[in-house]
Amino acid sequence: MELLSYILMALWVLVLFVIPVALIGNIGKMRNRFPFYKDKKPLPVVTGSIALCLIWLVVAGAIGTLASPENLKIAQGSYEQKAADVLYSPKHLATNIQASPSTDNNFTSSQTNTIKQNLPSISSIVLTSENPPPDENAVEVHVIDVGQGDSILIKSGELAMLIDAGETKSGEIVTNYLKNIGVSKLEYLIGTHPHEDHIGGLSSIIQTFGVKTIIMPKVVSTTKTFDELLDLIKEKGLKVTSPIVGQEYTLDKATFEILAPAKKYKDINDNSVVIRLSHGENDFLFTGDIGKKTEKDILNETKDLDAEVLKVAHHGSKSSTSSEFLKTVNPKYAAICVGENNQYGHPDPETIKRIESVGASTYRTDLNGSIVFKSDGSNITVTTTKQPTESSNGAPQNKILPQANNGSGSTPGETCYIGNKNSKKLHRPTCYTLPLKQNQINIKSIEEAKKLGYKPCKNCFKGGW
Ligand SMILES: [Zn+2]
Ligand SMILES: [Zn+2]
Repeated sequence: MELLSYILMALWVLVLFVIPVALIGNIGKMRNRFPFYKDKKPLPVVTGSIALCLIWLVVAGAIGTLASPENLKIAQGSYEQKAADVLYSPKHLATNIQASPSTDNNFTSSQTNTIKQNLPSISSIVLTSENPPPDENAVEVHVIDVGQGDSILIKSGELAMLIDAGETKSGEIVTNYLKNIGVSKLEYLIGTHPHEDHIGGLSSIIQTFGVKTIIMPKVVSTTKTFDELLDLIKEKGLKVTSPIVGQEYTLDKATFEILAPAKKYKDINDNSVVIRLSHGENDFLFTGDIGKKTEKDILNETKDLDAEVLKVAHHGSKSSTSSEFLKTVNPKYAAICVGENNQYGHPDPETIKRIESVGASTYRTDLNGSIVFKSDGSNITVTTTKQPTESSNGAPQNKILPQANNGSGSTPGETCYIGNKNSKKLHRPTCYTLPLKQNQINIKSIEEAKKLGYKPCKNCFKGGW
């Protein structure tokens, strides 16, 4: 195609400059040489030449446009889109899913990277098809595994919001996670406080997704990450909304209220934006990195503080999550965002004990991977991308993966697995990336799965069978 472009370019030069110049320059001579022109005025020759040039221009222009590399790309793109449409149509879905290199939707950091590197556009469309169709009345809270750092996605119907996006290097993980579950824009983006493990990934998010409202506390940080984030917000024509305690926002079927910060604190962590999200009878409390000071102020100023799910403050550090705070919140589930073998020694064993003493089940991103709480307004179901082995935390399995209080679905105690008939991947029933119902097959044991030629899902069976 390169050669064709050069030939066309040469034609253009010829048409635009050489031919008119040559013609006009020779009009005098032509008049003398050809008897036909002798009695004519020079005007028809000039207009004739211009007309000829114009015809050339149109013809060459048309050929050039049609054969341009951009057009070829567009043509290729529309073909891919058509191919994707065919793949995505219900008729072809069942048979064509297996054509994709990986149909297991996986949200751990290494996997999302693999997805990004290896999959062409068609496959990424097919990938999302393994997610169950969205339940319009459900609210999902995804505590995304970003290592040491926070990132929580809330999906309510078709709308979504994000609280923090982990460290700068996690921006890509969060971006891919959001894309994989079909999020294309964010109603709200909360940067709880200007620490790198919370706001580092926000720039990637703002670059990739349309964001309506950005909420960040009025705290100044002199870090490069924070400065760059503010510059980007300005550049995109967005504004930062300061949190006002008591202010309520709506996210489709859910609402959330700002609980803190009510004032300025010395410690940046204490200035974290704290929100309580409500969906029917279920409440979720997100506490950023607040310490005991802010907890005390929240206790004094907030009437309704009880929550079914508590995002434990400051990665489970011992300076947060006081007993008084825990008793008032009285959570059923506690989620801790924490990196494996982190240098800070998070979470603190004493904090874990305090959480256990109020009867809450603890989920940790270092052990459970990404954690998804799904609320139907009265019940909450929990799914995780990883199931910790007993040796990794010393706790019994049923403590780590309790089931929803309505008792529906399989329990971890049952030795039943779910296979994907198309991709031949075996999942645990608690896996977040279960295939569509019509592609599911119940398999009693791993032995049976092996016999049938099934491979382990990377979320469910870390390190293979
Ligand atoms: Zn912090
Ligand atoms: Zn933090």
